[in-house]
Amino acid sequence: MINLILLGPPGAGKGTQAKRLEDKYGLKQLSTGDMLRAEIAAGSELGLKAKSIMDSGALVSDEIVIAMIASRMEQADCKNGVIFDGFPRTVAQAEALDKMLEAKGRPLSAVIELKVDEEALVKRLNNRIAETKARGEPVRGDDNEETLRKRLQVFREQTAPIIPYYDSKDMLQSVDGMAAIEVVEAELAKILQSAKAA
Ligand code: AMP
Repeated sequence: MINLILLGPPGAGKGTQAKRLEDKYGLKQLSTGDMLRAEIAAGSELGLKAKSIMDSGALVSDEIVIAMIASRMEQADCKNGVIFDGFPRTVAQAEALDKMLEAKGRPLSAVIELKVDEEALVKRLNNRIAETKARGEPVRGDDNEETLRKRLQVFREQTAPIIPYYDSKDMLQSVDGMAAIEVVEAELAKILQSAKAA
C-alpha cells in the first residue's frame, strides 16, 4: 500500500500530479482544499466558516482538516493507498497524521517536495485564470494574484517547517516542479516504484 504526501506551495502542480498518479496506481487523491470547496458548494456550516478564511489565503484550523482526513481515510476507496495533496500544511497536522497512520497501521511511503520558483507560480496562476475565463468557467474565489502572494507567505511561514520535519525522519525527496508535467510525472513514478519495492 502506498501512502504518499505531495508537498509544495500553492500552484506547484500537486493536484495535477496527484490526479495522474491516481489513475496510474489506483491510489486516491485526498485534497483537503477540494474537500473544503465541496463543503462550501454544499452550503454546510463548515463550508460557510471556511470560505472567508480560504478567500483570504489563510489556513483553516488544524482540528477541522485533521478530522476531515481521519474520516475520509476510512472509506473503501482509500484502501489501496492515498496521495495527500495540500495536507499536512502545519507541523501540528504532520504530527497528527503520523499518529493517525500509525494507529491505522498504514506507514507513509514517501514525502515528495515539488520545488518551484515563486515568480513563475504567479505567472502560471495568471495564465490559469485567463484559460479558465476563456473556457467560460468560474474562477476560484482564492484565484487572484494578491491571494496567491498571501498563500505563498503562509506556505513559507506555516508549511515550510514540515520540510525539515520529514527530512529529519529521512522521508523527504525533492523533485523539480518547474519541469514539464510529463517530466515531473516520470520523476514521481520512479520514486513510487522504489517505495513500492521497499
Ligand atoms: P488548496 O486547494 O490545497 O490550495 O487549498 C485552498 C485553501 O483551503 C487554502 O488556502 C486553505 O485556506 C484551505 N486549506 C486546504 N488544505 C488545508 C490544510 N491542510 N490546512 C489548513 N487549511 C487548508
